[in-house]
Amino acid sequence: MIVGIDLGTTNSLVAVWRDGRAQLIPNALGELLTPSCVSLDADGTVLVGRSAVERLQSHPEQSAALFKRHMGSSRLTRMGGREFRPEELSALILKALKADAEAFLGEPVTEAIITVPAYFSDAQRKATRAAGQIAGLKVERLLNEPTAAALAYGLHQREAESRFLVFDLGGGTFDVSVLELFDGVMEVRASAGDNFLGGEDFVNGLIDTCFERLSLPASLRQDETFMARLRAETEAAKRLLSLQASATIAVRHGETVHRLDIDEATLAQTCEPLFKRLRLPVERAMRDAGLRSGDLNAIVLAGGATRMPLVRRLVTTMFGRFPSTELDPDQVVALGAAVQAGLKARDAALNEIVMTDVAPYSLGVAVGIRLGPDAVSQGHFDPIIERNSTVPISRVKQYIPQASGQKQLDLQIYQGESRLVRDNIHIGSLAVPLPPAAVHECAVDVRFTYDVNGLLQIDATVLKTQQTHSLLIEGNPGLLSEAQIAELLQAMAELKIHPRDQLENRTVMARAERLYEQLRGMEREHLGRQILVFEQMLAGQDARVIAPGRRAFADMLDHLERHSALDREPT
Ligand code: AMP
Repeated sequence: MIVGIDLGTTNSLVAVWRDGRAQLIPNALGELLTPSCVSLDADGTVLVGRSAVERLQSHPEQSAALFKRHMGSSRLTRMGGREFRPEELSALILKALKADAEAFLGEPVTEAIITVPAYFSDAQRKATRAAGQIAGLKVERLLNEPTAAALAYGLHQREAESRFLVFDLGGGTFDVSVLELFDGVMEVRASAGDNFLGGEDFVNGLIDTCFERLSLPASLRQDETFMARLRAETEAAKRLLSLQASATIAVRHGETVHRLDIDEATLAQTCEPLFKRLRLPVERAMRDAGLRSGDLNAIVLAGGATRMPLVRRLVTTMFGRFPSTELDPDQVVALGAAVQAGLKARDAALNEIVMTDVAPYSLGVAVGIRLGPDAVSQGHFDPIIERNSTVPISRVKQYIPQASGQKQLDLQIYQGESRLVRDNIHIGSLAVPLPPAAVHECAVDVRFTYDVNGLLQIDATVLKTQQTHSLLIEGNPGLLSEAQIAELLQAMAELKIHPRDQLENRTVMARAERLYEQLRGMEREHLGRQILVFEQMLAGQDARVIAPGRRAFADMLDHLERHSALDREPT
C-alpha cells in the first residue's frame, strides 16, 4: 500500500487514496496532526508526537523538534546520550506515521509519496529520501508542497494551460509559489518566501500589545511560567478571533488577573508590519514569474495561519478575487500527496519539473551588535546570501573590526536561519590580517559566491591594502551514502519504540509531568498525588479501569491548566 505524507516542520500528516478520494489517517490518539517532535523516555524508548511535545518542555535535553530545518546538513542533535542526524529524527516521525497507517488500513505500508518545500535543494531532497528509507519506506516520489496543494484542489484536471499561486503561511514560515500546468506537467515558475514569518509572529505581536496596554513590567518576560501561560492564552484568543468578533486574554500573576479584550482591529493594528511583510514575497514571486493577478486561474491557501480572516482579506484585496478555501489549510498538502498516490496506482501520476537551483540555507557570518559606547552583543548571525536565492549568486557586504588596533578580523562562517549563530551550523572560518590603522580605515569587503554544485567561495578584501584572502567550502557535506543509510536502518531497528496502544496513557502522563514542573504549592502537591494514583492504575493493567481513569485524569489536567492559567474570577 502506498500513502501520501506531509512531513512538516511543526506537524506531519499521513493520508491515503481510498474509495475514490483522499482520506486522512488518524494517529494513535485519534488526531490527524502529529507534531513533528521526538523524545526519549527515561528508559530510552522513543516517543513521537504530542507526548514528545510535552516532554520538549519538561525534558528539553531528551527531546528534539524543528529538525526539518536541518535536513541536508550533517548537524547532530544530542538526545539522551545519543546523537541523531536530521534524517534519523525525520525517520522516527515517518515510522510513527507508517505504523498509524498500517493500524488504520490493516495492511503493510511499504511505499510513500513525501512532500518537500519547492525550494528544497538537491541535498535536502536526498536527505528526505534517506529518511524514508531509514523508516523502512520506499520513497516512490518526492512531491513539491505547493504542487500537492494544487492536486488536493483537483487543479491538475484543468484542460487548458493554467496558472496558480499557492500562499502557504505556517507556524514559522511563509512560502509563496507560482505554478504552471502545461501539457499535464506542473512546474514551479517562481517561489519566494520569508523564513521568519508565520502564525507565531502574530502571537508575539499580541503579547507585546498585552505588555503595553496592561502596563506589565518588562521583568515579567523573564518569568517562564507566566510567559508560557500568556502565550497559550494569546494563541487561543488569536484562534478564537478567526471564528468570532472578539476574545479575551486573561492571565494571572500573583493575586492579580490581567485581562485584555481584543478584536480584529487590535490584531490588524498590532500586526500591521506583519501584514505588510506578507505582501513582499507575493509581489516578488509574481514579478519573477512575469505574471499579473489577472493571469492566475486560482489562488490556493495552505498552512494553519491562513485561517485568519485578516489574511484571507489581504489575499482577496491583493489579487482582486477570492482564494480557494474549501479545504482545511492544514490538510491540503497531505491530501494532495494522497491524490498523487492515487494517480500513481492508476499509472496516471502527474509529472513535475523540479526546481532545485536555489541556495538551500542562508549563508553568513557572526557579528557583534553595538548596544552602546562600551556594550556589544556578540554572536549574531548576519546573512550575506539569503536562503532561497537563485544560484549561482554572488553577494558582498562590508564589515569593520570591533576594536582599533585589532590585528586580524576573524570571520566565522555559518549556515542556517536562526538569529543567533549558536543555533546555526558553523561551516568554516577565515582569518583576515589587518593593517595597523584606525577602525574606520579597516573596512573589509566580504564576498560570498555560491554555485550550483553547492560550493561556497569566500573572498575577504581589506579595502586599505586591497589584499584578498579566500576560502572555499565544499558543498553538501551532509549527504549519506547507501551504506550509511543501511547502517542507520539497522540502528533504527534496535531502538525501542513506545507501544502504539499505550501512547494515550503515556501522552496524558507526559502532560501531567510537564504541568507538575510549571505549578507550585498546593496545586503541585495535589497533582503529584494524582500522578501516583494514575501510575498505580496503569500498574494494575486492567483496561476497563484504565480507560475511564485516564479520561478523569485528563479532565482534571484540563481543569488545572485552565484554572491556574486563567484563574477567572468566580462568578
Ligand atoms: P502549520 O505550521 O501550518 O500547522 O500552522 C500552524 C500555525 O497556524 C500556528 O501559528 C497557529 O497559530 C496557526 N493557526 C492554526 N489555526 C488557526 C486559526 N483558527 N486561526 C488563526 N491561526 C491559526
